[in-house]
Amino acid sequence: MRFPLALTLRITRHIVKHKILRTPKFAMVLQLEPLHTCNLTCTGCGRIREYSTSLKDMVPLEQCLGAASECDAPMVSICGGEPLIYPKIEELVVGLREQGRIIYICTNGVFMRKKMREYLASIYSPAVEPQLARLVSEELVTEKEAEQIRKADAAARARVTIKPSKWLYWNVHVDGLEYTHDLIVEREGVFKECVAAIKMAKILGYQVATNTTVYKETDVQELEDMFKYLSWLDVDGHTISPGYDYDAAKKDMVKRLARDPKEFFLTRDLTRQKFKDIERWGQMFTIFGTPVYQEFLAGKRELTCTAWAIPTYNVKGWKAPCYLMTDGHYPTYAEMLGKVVWEQYGVVDGVARDPRCENCMVHCGYDPSGALGTNYQSGDNWKNFRYNFSARPAPSPEGAQVKAFNGVSIGKGHLAEAKAAVKSEFSGAKSAFARGGNDLPSDGASAASGGGCGSGDTSQRDEVLAKIRRDPPAA
Ligand code: SF4
Ligand code: SF4
Repeated sequence: MRFPLALTLRITRHIVKHKILRTPKFAMVLQLEPLHTCNLTCTGCGRIREYSTSLKDMVPLEQCLGAASECDAPMVSICGGEPLIYPKIEELVVGLREQGRIIYICTNGVFMRKKMREYLASIYSPAVEPQLARLVSEELVTEKEAEQIRKADAAARARVTIKPSKWLYWNVHVDGLEYTHDLIVEREGVFKECVAAIKMAKILGYQVATNTTVYKETDVQELEDMFKYLSWLDVDGHTISPGYDYDAAKKDMVKRLARDPKEFFLTRDLTRQKFKDIERWGQMFTIFGTPVYQEFLAGKRELTCTAWAIPTYNVKGWKAPCYLMTDGHYPTYAEMLGKVVWEQYGVVDGVARDPRCENCMVHCGYDPSGALGTNYQSGDNWKNFRYNFSARPAPSPEGAQVKAFNGVSIGKGHLAEAKAAVKSEFSGAKSAFARGGNDLPSDGASAASGGGCGSGDTSQRDEVLAKIRRDPPAA
């Protein structure tokens, strides 16, 4: 099966229950953003820009659990920002599991190995030695780290950690092979770290998914190579979605990168061109989502947006109308469902009801439409059933030949700037971030690195840097 049986049954039960109850609108996936702080400043990420004035804020643990309970979505995608920076991430995962939810931790991968070392320390016994020896031999854990795991003290053993579970996925952000990915995340070495984290997670028995956003610059052949490579790494599934030109990201493009957003984001026509092979990929790789959504991406049919099915909860409340666009925040999911005029959003039969929706075909607006049958065509249910219940595609042997490490794209990248900024705190020199990035060469991505989150408020960026210094990424 493409998606484990127990999880499929959990989701199916939820849909059937609401169909029987004739619930007009209900949640399928909660996008839970406990914080917007991030250790990266990816090109195209509107999150850290839109919420740049509240990067310090976090949703208290009980409030996160309360939001999950209120909307009762069977799946919770913990995103952000970088959710592994959230101080109560482990407790949040435990609490969501106690509620019976399927959990995705959407991470840029940089802190994953650290979290898994903490897990190993908490369970260490001589029985763990074979796994530990393998991790050391594959250079996923250093000898020194292995020794620290073996010598874990009582506090490390008592620590709540993120454990492997069939109900949990690490969902790692990967936008291409090394060159492209590091270019998009604006920091060298992140792709390498993601691959190391994925390998370590698989050795330890975690489920791993990846999520990829496709931009105008994305090379379709590279995407296929990336899927081959990830499949060869035995990744359990992939989510793929077109990049959407939402306001916050567009403004950032213009202000920080001096780029025309049209150069970067996809129109509907371009999306269809980029996704023309999505159904073939769905047969070759474990692409999550319905075949109905894949047909929509490939331009074979229309769907109506069901953004209410993937609601977003964050420091400001329930974000409406969708993950990408913000017309308001509401204190409860019920209030958001009741007060938003949903009929004014989305694209119906090719006509945008809101001009901002015109080019949107994103996963969080339209994938649930495929599962919920909002534009039902004869045979859709069978198509979805057959896709999910058919055998999971085998790991691609061609993945071994893919040149995944095809070069670091940012010689003078963001990490160098961050390190310089951290050092300068002690020397009294002006932070590289405080300079606002205007003194960097204007060569696209490298020029981007100086501007950080684009808020102009360097205190918040410095706080992120302080966090990185306190809790550095694995070497
Ligand atoms: S990892 Fe990148 S895309 Fe994700 S929240 Fe951070 S800056 Fe945004
Ligand atoms: S189509 Fe739906 S998901 Fe896309 S921007 Fe509009 S409301 Fe949001």
